[in-house]
Amino acid sequence: MNIILFGPPGAGKGTQADNIVKRFNLHKVSTGDLLRDEIKRSTNLGLEIKSTVDKGTLVSDEIINDLMIKILSDRKFYNRLIFDGYPRNLNQAKNLDFLVKKNNQKISCVLSLNVDKESVIKRVLGRLLCTKCGLIFNKNFKPSIKESHSCDPKFLVKRSDDNEKIIIDRFETYLKKTLPLLEFYKEQNLLHQIDGKAGIDHIFEEIQRIIAGLEA
Ligand code: AMP
Repeated sequence: MNIILFGPPGAGKGTQADNIVKRFNLHKVSTGDLLRDEIKRSTNLGLEIKSTVDKGTLVSDEIINDLMIKILSDRKFYNRLIFDGYPRNLNQAKNLDFLVKKNNQKISCVLSLNVDKESVIKRVLGRLLCTKCGLIFNKNFKPSIKESHSCDPKFLVKRSDDNEKIIIDRFETYLKKTLPLLEFYKEQNLLHQIDGKAGIDHIFEEIQRIIAGLEA
């Protein structure tokens, strides 16, 4: 089962991807995380990526497609992928279709978390990322507590693109480039729309119901 998590920045895709990974033993592919890893390595490519990410626009399809070729051809992850933040435009979606077929896999469903712009801004401004384990928290909605997070709080950081100016640009990029993909997946009968403003647990229950329906 390969799943696409779809929605604007701050919709809760990363949080739900972590839940799904734990419950269904899938492998999370977050293109944002992969790009941040490259930025951390301070390579020439990393610097090029950083200048794009800091503008709130999309990194080139070529860079993203190269990452995906490796992941989709890796037998360790065969039909066990959950995509968070990918595909982000029609070209990426078509490339994903091509790679999925080439590697004898399929997309099982697209889960779209629908959230409005004001909520997105509020969530993104409270978001914290653990640089040690990669889990995502939120000062207001999902604080890091001992029961759910064992890393030292010193590893919790704000992402450099989680500020008010860049989040507005990222939201605009989402509306222009990514949202039209919904139609693409609707036509393939893969799309499930979810109210992304509901509580984290409630959303996860709905996701589990949808996935159970796929397995039946
Ligand atoms: P995210 O962590 O998904 O919010 O992504 C952070 C930033 O990384 C985005 O604002 C883009 O600049 C870049 N990015 C992440 N995923 C993609 C993708 N699939 N295609 C192009 N750029 C991406």
